[in-house]
Amino acid sequence: MIKVGVLGFGGLGQAAARVLAPKQEMTWVGAADLKGYAYCETGLDPDRAIATYHQQGSIGYLEPYGTLSNHSIQELLENSAVDGYFLALPNLPNTFMADVAKQFIASGWQGVLVDALKRTSAVEQLLTLQPELEAAGITYLTGCGATPGLLTAAAVVAAQSYAEIHSVKITFGVGIANWEAYRATIREDIAHLPGFTVEKAKGMTDAEVEAFLDQTNGILTLENMEHADDIMLELAGICSRDRVTVGGVVDTRNPKKPLSTNVQITGRTFEGKISTHTFTLGDETSMAANVCGPAFGYLKAGKMLHDRGIHGLFTAAEIMPQFVK
Ligand code: NAD
Repeated sequence: MIKVGVLGFGGLGQAAARVLAPKQEMTWVGAADLKGYAYCETGLDPDRAIATYHQQGSIGYLEPYGTLSNHSIQELLENSAVDGYFLALPNLPNTFMADVAKQFIASGWQGVLVDALKRTSAVEQLLTLQPELEAAGITYLTGCGATPGLLTAAAVVAAQSYAEIHSVKITFGVGIANWEAYRATIREDIAHLPGFTVEKAKGMTDAEVEAFLDQTNGILTLENMEHADDIMLELAGICSRDRVTVGGVVDTRNPKKPLSTNVQITGRTFEGKISTHTFTLGDETSMAANVCGPAFGYLKAGKMLHDRGIHGLFTAAEIMPQFVK
């Protein structure tokens, strides 16, 4: 049984708790948000935890397992026995996830970390931590959400038909009923729009985000995003990063996807034929399903590596996720 912690208890963190509930191979034992944390070695109840978070603003209020804290990650780390964490934290500022990784390294904790980071520059920061992660006995898998993550891995599999890869084109459609369920995701998406930066999006109040979304009718159209699928595919030897493009449409007012999420992999076969493989996600699958499923599939794979003494940094493009039963 793998004991799992979730850092960040917003949209993805809560979905992660629900995804784990029916699993036999993993138990959700702990979570931290900005104001507190909760831990129970035999497992937490997602319904109660989510209700507490919504009613009182922090999982730290969960009786009797919660603790309020301004250093929730550090305290959860010190007061728990966890095999692996899913980092469902906002990467705001763009250095935040690397800072959390450094915190884990400094703590002496050993285990598996999985994130769903999106920006190339954020994954680059983690790459510089590879030797320290390895020395610390941490197996860290980065970019393990949907994109990067599921779609990047699908591109690696699809590339095997070709002798040369010409392009990888990722197009995502996300539909969510209201933006407040995924504040960090939406702020980070706004940061990709012309005229915005990560700093600017981080500094926007909820009312400002609301007002901005009113202007666009709740729709965000994203093109040529700085997305780590590019560096991950380059490192995996698939193609140079300039051949990878990522864009999509996010509807923040309707759970129906505005378009079908897909990845198109174009290449030349050994016979000289140019062709395109397309992998399309089912429209009924939510962003949460396509991020949390792969994240735990990679956490299971990471645990297998960790148990074999293989530590350091890996990306979702170089390891096959394992299905969690
Ligand atoms: P959210 O805003 O809904 O929730 C964030 C949570 O983190 C909150 O519970 C908050 O309290 C907690 N938090 C913030 N600062 C903290 C701190 N210092 N210590 C402890 N907890 C802290 O976020 P979300 O919309 O679920 O997104 C989480 C991340 O997932 C974002 O970075 C987003 O970009 C990423 N994401 C990745 C993919 C992908 O496919 N790779 C898809 C969607 C979202």
